[in-house]
Amino acid sequence: MSSTLRAPVVVEFPFTRSLGPVQRAFLTGLRERTVLGVRTGSGRVLVPPVEYDPDTAEEIGALVRVGTAGTVTTWAWNPDPRPGQPLDTPFAWVLVRLDGADTALLHVLDAPGPEAVRTGLRVRVRWAAERTGAITDIACFEPEPEPEAEAEAETEMETEAEAAPEPVPGTEDGAAAVPVPHDGTFPDPVTGIVTPARLDYTYTPGRAQSAHLHALAERRITGERCPSCRKVYVPPRGACPTCGVATTEEVATGPRGTVTTYCVVNIKARNLDIDVPYVYAHIALDGADLPLHGRIAGIPCDQVRVGLRVEPVWKPGDLHPDHYRPTGEPDADTGEEML
Ligand SMILES: [Zn+2]
Repeated sequence: MSSTLRAPVVVEFPFTRSLGPVQRAFLTGLRERTVLGVRTGSGRVLVPPVEYDPDTAEEIGALVRVGTAGTVTTWAWNPDPRPGQPLDTPFAWVLVRLDGADTALLHVLDAPGPEAVRTGLRVRVRWAAERTGAITDIACFEPEPEPEAEAEAETEMETEAEAAPEPVPGTEDGAAAVPVPHDGTFPDPVTGIVTPARLDYTYTPGRAQSAHLHALAERRITGERCPSCRKVYVPPRGACPTCGVATTEEVATGPRGTVTTYCVVNIKARNLDIDVPYVYAHIALDGADLPLHGRIAGIPCDQVRVGLRVEPVWKPGDLHPDHYRPTGEPDADTGEEML
């Protein structure tokens, strides 16, 4: 039995989006320590706000200001924060229904431990020291002080109140009822955001793919045959996607094959040491019933064609073919089922 293969995989890109009037007001509001929601035609207040009523699909834009304190409606404890999460100490993921809102906002709660968190807990916003117009302008939520503790904390509260631009409705220093209408206008509004998206995981191939990868390292290209429809899949996935049955019969394929379709790549990928332009192709290996894909080299891009016969090229030490090159054989008929 071969050892289990594992590989770290990171998919990462900055996601840039422009903001419409509702999200622009919401995020600019956070920068100004103001939480805005929208009121739907039926009178519900949605926080975070959306542009369209989720019940009626009606466009909505009636902004309202809600409180910066609220109630935990559900929660989950995160004992082991991962890099990039809002807090680097253990915290609770919480849904918080802010005062004046009918829906709950997903955020995190800074609490000493899970025993300090419960549904119904009163919490309030802890603003980030530096705010840019992003959901992270709310650094986190924190439990509201108990009434008896409030007197002791008064000095501290006064200091905080002095730092605040104005009393905030729905909190201990704001008697006004929430929600209150808001025109969403702020100086220097935020018009777009860049959200880093990152997926970081360990990939472990299953039985069929592991066997295929071990064979590749020995410069053999193996597939598996479906016991029902007899098709040979390379690389094998362990089951026939058409018949839904497990594939177990290992079949040697290639190494030569035929180009069934291709594209010319003109954009250089980061972290990929291949000069552009180059050709990426679907290649039907001899003996396989479905094409795999690989890079074609050793021939000018404009001479690559459907039907071109190719063979894999392994570089010293490579665990898989680096690319495919022309064999010099006459072109082959690919057959329609390969397209
Ligand atoms: Zn099948």
